[in-house]
Amino acid sequence: MGSFAALVSRGFTFEFNSNEHAASRGHPRWGMVIDLDRCTGCQSCVVACSVENNQMLGSPEEAAMGRIIRWLKILPKTESEGSRVRQSLIPMPCQQCDDPPCTRVCPTSATFINPEGIVGQVYDRCIGCRYCVNACPYTCKFFNWGKSQWPKEVEQSFNPDVSVRDKGVVEKCLFCHHRLQRAKDAAREEGRDIQEGDYVTACQAACPAQAITFGNLNNLNSAVSRLASSHRAFKILDDLGTHPKVVYLKEG
Ligand code: SF4
Ligand code: SF4
Repeated sequence: MGSFAALVSRGFTFEFNSNEHAASRGHPRWGMVIDLDRCTGCQSCVVACSVENNQMLGSPEEAAMGRIIRWLKILPKTESEGSRVRQSLIPMPCQQCDDPPCTRVCPTSATFINPEGIVGQVYDRCIGCRYCVNACPYTCKFFNWGKSQWPKEVEQSFNPDVSVRDKGVVEKCLFCHHRLQRAKDAAREEGRDIQEGDYVTACQAACPAQAITFGNLNNLNSAVSRLASSHRAFKILDDLGTHPKVVYLKEG
């Protein structure tokens, strides 16, 4: 997935800085629902995301400078009412906005939204200006400050479907887009269309509490679309007009 040409050849279609919702053109619209009532904060999803996407482990020094890269973060949320304090945890990948502010500011169109609603990154086009990092209200984009390094043992377990990012580029969650390509290839070989459950993300697959549901929001019969219209559903910073495709279910 390293180069622009490689992305195109693998079926990642491009539509630079379009703000028109993918929903209107008959494509799938990939989205995620995270049930906060089920999430135990175990961080299996964080580990799965790191391993799946060849993320650097990082050192204590980098952590002290706030330079650890995790495409999926667990954010603490504290609510208080009088003397009662309630702490909960919110897993947060890229919100895959339908109207993403990050794509509007990139001078090289290195970040874009594709017709299936996935907000992508072309690492070879990124010049590291970090406009997109600052435009993201969810702080879901990460600048790669250092040369990628891993302990020797870890290098043996790289995911060959995901490129190792160079120093000086911005990276983020792509909804494990390489898994979509694999699912499409498998369905094509079997002579059928891609079905519900063919394309699952690494974080969803790893969650022991089944708190994460992923799928096509445009399919009204899909589990993700039913959950997204639940009375418990909400979106983070929804009033900004970014139209996230990550929907949360509140506790209760
Ligand atoms: S969450 Fe941030 S990085 Fe992701 S699409 Fe929205 S603005 Fe872009
Ligand atoms: S969808 Fe994939 S890349 Fe995004 S947070 Fe989940 S595991 Fe990480």
